[in-house]
Amino acid sequence: MKLGILKEQNDSRVAIVPTLLGKFKDLGLEICIEQNAGAKASCADEEYTANATVCSRKEVLQNSDIVVCINAPSDEDLALLRPETLVISQFQSFIDDKVAPKLKGMNLRAFGMDVIPRTTLAQSMDVLSSMASIAGYKAVLDAASRLPRYLPMMITAAGSIKPAKVLILGAGVAGLQAIATARRLGATVEVFDTRAAVKEEVQSLGARFVEVAGAKDESSAGGYAVEQSEEFLQRQRAEVADRASKADIVITTAQVRGRKAPILLTQETVEKMKRGSVVVDLAASTGGNCELTQDRQVIVHNGVTIVGNSDLASEMPQDASFLYGNNLLNFMKLFVKKGELNIDLQNEIIRGAYLTA
Ligand code: NAD
Repeated sequence: MKLGILKEQNDSRVAIVPTLLGKFKDLGLEICIEQNAGAKASCADEEYTANATVCSRKEVLQNSDIVVCINAPSDEDLALLRPETLVISQFQSFIDDKVAPKLKGMNLRAFGMDVIPRTTLAQSMDVLSSMASIAGYKAVLDAASRLPRYLPMMITAAGSIKPAKVLILGAGVAGLQAIATARRLGATVEVFDTRAAVKEEVQSLGARFVEVAGAKDESSAGGYAVEQSEEFLQRQRAEVADRASKADIVITTAQVRGRKAPILLTQETVEKMKRGSVVVDLAASTGGNCELTQDRQVIVHNGVTIVGNSDLASEMPQDASFLYGNNLLNFMKLFVKKGELNIDLQNEIIRGAYLTA
């Protein structure tokens, strides 16, 4: 059975790094990879050749039984696949309900890496967590490098500098990593989240958890946040405004799965912030947590830099690719054995991720 690895079109990552190829081969797979697929993740074609053949995009698409990539292939690419080819990618099917019928209509089979159930058993396959963790880390580094100030406290012969204040909205996977990174750099950190369950985690990382009473926090949502009432969001925005006006950096990560991100930082709040301060909005692609965010753009409003970037994982492509590949390998071990596919829909993880049943 042939496994084909595609080169990403607008992304620096690659689905499988060379050091993991041997493990994919152990599943009984013959591997081909598109030319230059790993180049931007610092993986040269020569590093793949011991375990794979390097070929053109068309060859990968036309000759593979399984095709893997990070971002969903275009319709033109999908049209080149043979019937019944299995495509494993992130299709964003939780936002776009037309994706699954389209793939089925093309007589393809598909797994969405981004809809693998987020259960304990599937933790080693969870690409959302792997990528969010990198994004949280990079968000702090990005903000720190744009900030015209130190993050740690400094006592020098020329004078003392107070530690920077970082405000983090949303303490999911990205937010927790942002807290840890900002703390390691010596900043003081305050955090908002609607899920009370994260309070202890936030505190154990040395940050202050700010509570706004009356948040809806439903355990039935599988660990995810639920949409809040407008009345709650208004109270939260007022609290956030107060903290943001004193902060040097605001990192926003608040998301409600499958919906538009809540606006937590209004234009009025940004206008109260200190000149030179930086907002990094990781929720930019779902509308942003800051009213002024422009997705994939960096703007300056009243001296405040606002970075709209939900794609920070691809700015650390080597480790992001390594983790994605590991997640993929752990997932594929569930249904590829000795070069044969066995898609058992009784298995909860396989069923949850299978788009074309
Ligand atoms: P996410 O990206 O959907 O959301 C980020 C954070 O924003 C969440 O913590 C959410 O509570 C918060 N948020 C939403 N609305 C908000 C508001 N109005 N104000 C402040 N914060 C708000 O979440 P995620 O990081 O992908 O995952 C969330 C949680 O899911 C994790 O922290 C974890 O508990 C759970 N999870 C479990 C597993 C597992 O068991 N395998 C894996 C991954 C995640």
